[in-house]
Amino acid sequence: MTAGFREAVVDLGALHANLAALVARVSPARAMAVVKADAYGHGAVPVARAALAGGASWLGVADVDEALALRAAGIDAPVLAWLHAPDADFAPAIAADVDLGASSVAQLEAIAAAGAAGGRTPHVHLKADTGLSRNGVAPADWPAAAAAAARLEGAGLVRVRGVFTHLANASPEDDADQLRAFDRAVELLRAAGVRPELRHAASTAAAWNLPDARHDLVRLGIGIYGIPPFCDGTTAAELGLAPVMTLRGRVAAVRRVEAGAGASYDYAWRADRPTTLALVPLGYADGVPRQASGRAEVLLRGRRRPVVGRIAMDQFLVDVGDDGVEVGDEVVLFGDPATGAPSADDWADAAGTIGYEIVTRIGPRVRRTYVEGGA
Ligand SMILES: *Cc1c(COP(=O)(O)O)cnc(C)c1O
Repeated sequence: MTAGFREAVVDLGALHANLAALVARVSPARAMAVVKADAYGHGAVPVARAALAGGASWLGVADVDEALALRAAGIDAPVLAWLHAPDADFAPAIAADVDLGASSVAQLEAIAAAGAAGGRTPHVHLKADTGLSRNGVAPADWPAAAAAAARLEGAGLVRVRGVFTHLANASPEDDADQLRAFDRAVELLRAAGVRPELRHAASTAAAWNLPDARHDLVRLGIGIYGIPPFCDGTTAAELGLAPVMTLRGRVAAVRRVEAGAGASYDYAWRADRPTTLALVPLGYADGVPRQASGRAEVLLRGRRRPVVGRIAMDQFLVDVGDDGVEVGDEVVLFGDPATGAPSADDWADAAGTIGYEIVTRIGPRVRRTYVEGGA
């Protein structure tokens, strides 16, 4: 398949295999595929369908709009949305059978009220903050939240289907502290008479290496996309996962330059010898991080070649030396290292960030193409 001008090839076969491998590892816990942020840039609807086919029994998104987009595409699997605007209107989500995370008594009351107005019993997952200090009910407020949940459930105004928390992945000891706090929260809830069928705490990192964190359900994001959740240099291949996204384009121009010629803005790089520069038509508007200027590499004509000069909004340059590179040649920014390409994590290292940010920021100008195994 000829590469597009700017193209992200999404290998749904790889996604399916990643999910199957993760599901096998966490079983008997069930798997929620996290498809927030347009499935980390991969395309929410096709990824959600492939994930369900690959063994996920739940889908997870940050907000209600993301959940409703899945429903509008005809996806009727269980979906949980957990981050809400202060004045969120929960009615459309409840009507569409979207489960809602509740991070405060006020949110629980608002969800119950929206359900009552629409004549339906909303499904909620009560979120406990066990250390991250983000959303979730704070420990001091948990007894009141448990009492409110018991009262609303007793009145038939909500069904508490889940209780969950999120881990900092700070250290094994910190995670263990959070898991103990989570157990205490679940106990308090049970003592108040609320028995959620689903306890969930782990995202990919804890699902992978902390069996105690798996509970009934794990929320798998980055791992299903074939990007390691760890920042210690562990590769996808070492985890038995395959990168799902290949970001590629085609050389838009080739320029032979003399020693001393400047390249791109600020002449941040100058040729130290006569050489050939290839112009790649992707830039920071497409999510190619400017911070990776002068550090990242691409795969072009079978070799890794350095990005030189500043990455601009729409384009950047690659030094190809004296090799014969032509306009129209395929250039791979990142993909599966088994093909010789850099990984998304290589770009993350070059830009001082994490693989999550590299794939999630790929812009709307980049065409997504879906393949079933083998780009
Ligand atoms: C994004 C997110 C996840 C997925 O995390 P990964 O590290 O990508 O697996 C899980 N749970 C919550 C609450 C999240 O916000």
